Amino acid sequence: MRARVTECGAKRSRRRDLLRGGALVTFGAGLGVVGFAEAADVVDRKLPLRGGAASAVPDRPDLLGGGRLELNWCVRTERKLVALTFDDGPGPDWTPMVLDTLHQHDVRATFFMVGERARRHGDLVRGRLAGHEVGSHSWAHHDLARLSYEEAYDDLARTHQELVAVTGQEPRLLRPPYGHLAGSTAAAAVRMGYQMVLWSQQMREAEFPGDPAGQARQIIADMQPGTILLAHDVGNDQRLVSIRGLPEIIDQLRARGYEFVTVSQLLAVRH
Ligand SMILES: [Zn+2]
Repeated sequence: MRARVTECGAKRSRRRDLLRGGALVTFGAGLGVVGFAEAADVVDRKLPLRGGAASAVPDRPDLLGGGRLELNWCVRTERKLVALTFDDGPGPDWTPMVLDTLHQHDVRATFFMVGERARRHGDLVRGRLAGHEVGSHSWAHHDLARLSYEEAYDDLARTHQELVAVTGQEPRLLRPPYGHLAGSTAAAAVRMGYQMVLWSQQMREAEFPGDPAGQARQIIADMQPGTILLAHDVGNDQRLVSIRGLPEIIDQLRARGYEFVTVSQLLAVRH
């Protein structure tokens, strides 16, 4: 196994020094071993382990074919690029509002969709995703870290099929629900040919209740080139803090020279 890590943003800062932009993990000799780059924001999380550990070794290690998995939190770049991402949709409450705002501001974003919601609410996004990217966020938002390799693979394959049918796009990216993954998840993602996408900044609705402008100021102050920003287009009314603040975030970041790109467009600047 080997891993290549890169740092987030163009400039080093105390907090960003702790956050590594991405890790390239190689599966050696058919053995499903996965390594993590250190990410301070990630290791601090409480990870529920009920249900036991899922094996990192698939029943058919030959299916990995010596594949590689990339874990991406952000991209190190001098260019002022930001990838806006929306998880958990599509849903009737906020997805249309998000799409309207993005359209009005001519912004490209990435939607990490839940397969069963795409099946139920596909009409909300059909024909509205031109220029946007669609990634997988699993079939039913279960914690993939608790699934065996076969279960994780079945989940991702089913989701993939549904997202192709609804959106006409072939997803190339996986964001595991809650940012949780096990070796089994990694092996299934390799077999799907996915890259793993996490995030380096996220909306903080709970810190700014009813204050879209306050949150927008914080997001803008914390912005770094190459950031992958996590937001949601499904959830409770608290989400409105982000959704109502979106025009301000877009306008202010543009005024500071930022360009909005999809995650795949952002990842492409690494090479
Ligand atoms: Zn989610």
